[in-house]
Amino acid sequence: MSKKIVILILFALIASLFTSCNCSYVPESDSHNTESSFSITSNSDNEKPEEYYTAFRQGESSVSLYLVTPYGMYMNIRKYIYYSEKGNTEYIKLCNKPACNHSTEDCNAYTGAYQIGYYKDKIYYISRRDYYVNTLNCMNMDGTNHKEIKVLNNSCFSTFGYFHNGYFYYIIGTPGVQAIGVTNDDNNLYRVKVDDNSKPEVVLTDDIIFNIQRFIVVDDIIFLTVYKQDTTAECFLYSYSCKTGALTNIADNWSGNGFWGKHYGYCYLTNEGIYKYNVETGEVTLEKAIKFDNHGYCGARFYPDYIYLIHNRNDDYRALREQDLVLYIYNWDYEIIETVLLDFINKGKIGNFITDVGNYIIFASDMDNKPDYYIDKSEIGTDKFTFHKIEN
Ligand SMILES: [Zn+2]
Repeated sequence: MSKKIVILILFALIASLFTSCNCSYVPESDSHNTESSFSITSNSDNEKPEEYYTAFRQGESSVSLYLVTPYGMYMNIRKYIYYSEKGNTEYIKLCNKPACNHSTEDCNAYTGAYQIGYYKDKIYYISRRDYYVNTLNCMNMDGTNHKEIKVLNNSCFSTFGYFHNGYFYYIIGTPGVQAIGVTNDDNNLYRVKVDDNSKPEVVLTDDIIFNIQRFIVVDDIIFLTVYKQDTTAECFLYSYSCKTGALTNIADNWSGNGFWGKHYGYCYLTNEGIYKYNVETGEVTLEKAIKFDNHGYCGARFYPDYIYLIHNRNDDYRALREQDLVLYIYNWDYEIIETVLLDFINKGKIGNFITDVGNYIIFASDMDNKPDYYIDKSEIGTDKFTFHKIEN
């Protein structure tokens, strides 16, 4: 392969990484929203424990872009925060400044952020200034009072990570970039407390950090998926015990979109099925074989009550955007209870589930834009089941 082609592929891969993490910034005018004024208050009827809101949300379609809070739902889209009172209601930019056109950096909704998190009545976000300074910032729930809390590091790489129960866990660099040859010599996983002046601390140091795909913190254990060398498709699964310092290779084939509880971990492997990892025994078992005649490209989302499998029936990955998608909803006995052709998605766009907001699952038919559909979970398995449109 010529050097030119290698460089072109490298740029294409980096560009796709940034697109997939929704980092590209395209200024827009959101004219219907110009006159918006709203008051945002905590829902006092809310019985859910604090951790429901502060823990990293497994099963979300991207990393740390969506918050379900006692105040409503927040989304980070192209570096602006959007607010929806119930998740299945209209999304508007989080700004009530008079005469703001909501498309410049002094708009209250603008964060410049790659990742957002919720903790104790504030929104936290990670952004970059002066080309190489990664900072932790916060704002009020109504979009006012943006403040820089601390500098995380000076680096030509941005940080990647998750907010989880008052901490931000992160690596320096973009997952997978190392695998395609962009050199970053920092092999640490860090965490930093969000609401004080303390400095970041190193949680784990190991060269697997260079090839990390995702990680998730469950109590004292961090589960990490790590790209196999020379491939960006298959992953190893590791666990790291923060108590004992033991780093263990658990499985040689695992998916980054896994789902973890205290006792079990689950993932879906394309053209194989659903695997289960037993935390206590260390055993990995194939729980449900799922194969299609024309397998195409499949992705699964695991939520506490159902498993959502989207089957793209086109085998050619370049045709992903052509949308020949079928949704299967499985219960946790792995029985199919709904089969839906997703033919309402606009051609040329990638649609996917955004997150679970309690009674509803939010869906975006264009992942680069505001969510536009939702499922009412109480309708699953009944003849009322449908994709409802989120109305403006
Ligand atoms: Zn504004």
